[in-house]
Amino acid sequence: MDKGMFVDTSICTGCKACQVACKEWNGLEAEPEYFKKGPGAPYPVAFNFTGNSYDNTARLGARDWRHVIFIEQINSRRANSRWLFMSDSCKHCSDAACLNVCPVEAIERTDLGNVIVRQDKCVGTKLCNKACPYGVVKYNEKTRTSHKCTLCNDRIHNGMGTACAKACPTGSIQFGDVPDLKARADARLSKLRATGEAKANIYGYSEAGGLKVFYLLMDNPAIYGLPDKPVIPQRRRFSFLGGKLAAMLAGAAVIIGFRERGINKSGDRARED
Ligand code: SF4
Ligand code: SF4
Repeated sequence: MDKGMFVDTSICTGCKACQVACKEWNGLEAEPEYFKKGPGAPYPVAFNFTGNSYDNTARLGARDWRHVIFIEQINSRRANSRWLFMSDSCKHCSDAACLNVCPVEAIERTDLGNVIVRQDKCVGTKLCNKACPYGVVKYNEKTRTSHKCTLCNDRIHNGMGTACAKACPTGSIQFGDVPDLKARADARLSKLRATGEAKANIYGYSEAGGLKVFYLLMDNPAIYGLPDKPVIPQRRRFSFLGGKLAAMLAGAAVIIGFRERGINKSGDRARED
């Protein structure tokens, strides 16, 4: 049975406990570009203030596999305000663009339906970074490979739920079997609509072949930065080229990977994303 998550944004408080739990369980280091050593300071301090939000990580990254989006809606007269939050991550798409475009088949779907990047197979072409319609998977200049949320692959294959769902104090992130989660989401949507939340909607039932991680939103998907019609490059693009050409592409990717390593050793630091 496919596993997934239902993210009910109507009860998210933006506490970011999910982000912290993700970092902790997966051993993800702090984003180096967020820290700087000021003049005379003995150690680097965080300086990643966005300047327009209380959000301080701003986006998903190779070391930030989860990001709680803050949407601060304040009307022009500053008389009314509403904050929307959405805990964002990989959606584990049924038709996964990242998996479709990988020339060396380093991105795999497990028996539980989650999509993972095999670090031992990734050669760092970054094709998946460009293909993902949600801007999820990112290149790490230190490992020279791409990274993203695994749906806590190690935990779920040992009978546990995801770390973020476990840590969420409000139940905004729920882990389980996808059909059960959909039943819960439908019931919650009906309840919200009955209380006058006309814009409440569910995102992810049909997009990208159906998302294993889907969302109950309180406003239009575009407000949360989610595309109405995500564009998914198809796997057949590679299969019709035939095995030979695919192998050549893989070889070229390896050479590019080696060349980039060489360049970076000489001090020209590659940029993440
Ligand atoms: S959200 Fe992006 S990275 Fe995640 S499975 Fe879908 S295409 Fe791949
Ligand atoms: S999803 Fe849960 S843990 Fe994450 S910010 Fe929202 S309330 Fe906090």
